Amino acid sequence: MANELISTALVTGASRGIGKAIALTLAKEGYTVFLTYASKKDEAISVVKEIEAHGGKAQAFCLNIGDSEAITQFFKDEIKDKVRLDVLVNNAGITKDGLIMRMKDDDFDNVINVNLRGSFICIREAFKIMSKQRLGRIINIVSVVGQMGNAGQANYAAAKAGLIGITKSAAKEFGSRSITVNAVAPGFIETDMTAVLADDVKAKYAAQIPLGTFGSAQNIADAVAFLASEKAAYITGQVLPVNGGLYC
Ligand code: NAP
Repeated sequence: MANELISTALVTGASRGIGKAIALTLAKEGYTVFLTYASKKDEAISVVKEIEAHGGKAQAFCLNIGDSEAITQFFKDEIKDKVRLDVLVNNAGITKDGLIMRMKDDDFDNVINVNLRGSFICIREAFKIMSKQRLGRIINIVSVVGQMGNAGQANYAAAKAGLIGITKSAAKEFGSRSITVNAVAPGFIETDMTAVLADDVKAKYAAQIPLGTFGSAQNIADAVAFLASEKAAYITGQVLPVNGGLYC
């Protein structure tokens, strides 16, 4: 994607876990990576350093994806007219698990606010830029839980199912500008998010996965790199499951 502005991929929540793997992988593909974090500045800076050590370019930004005004300001200050935004990966996400009967309003609202509303605002702001470029790739990290549900995760499942709905709607709205919008739906992946699960719970989940184990963050990054590439130019509005066969 040649242009006088630098070809940039924005990855939210890339200080660790899946986002970090996506940032490192897209940097290897030649993108300058803008990566965001919420609180773990040192981890985000070490991702930047790792990218630079491999000859790539990256910058880290503190951005709360639950704060829509901050997102709008970020796009205005750091993206618009400064870089060419070729790829947006909406990866930042949180969990606040609990059975429906006991789930607090705040735990429902926070998960929807970060995982769904924040991703929506990023998509809207990215579209303003990508529509002028008449080219772009938007990739939303959803979850197998948004497809099949999970006891104790009604808020998270609702947010991820909602993001699938936004993915499909945006694909229809943005297609005429050659902007593709897809989702990657990870199954259970080894990161901090799943590290909190007790060993017996992990073993129970693993037993349900045809491929027998949790996936790696790199498995998800490889799927994202494919959807960001020219090879996926004619794919839009799709959900790519990367779940070891857990939900087919
Ligand atoms: P993780 O290890 O917990 O990392 C979460 C990332 O999101 C961190 O970079 C964190 O920043 C950032 N973040 C959290 N709250 C934020 C906020 N309010 N604003 C901005 N950034 C925020 O999570 P992960 O397992 O890599 O998951 C990444 C994505 O994959 C999420 O959307 C998750 O729902 C999805 N997913 C994960 C799995 C899995 O099994 N792990 C399965 C399906 C889907 P700080 O480091 O600064 O806190």
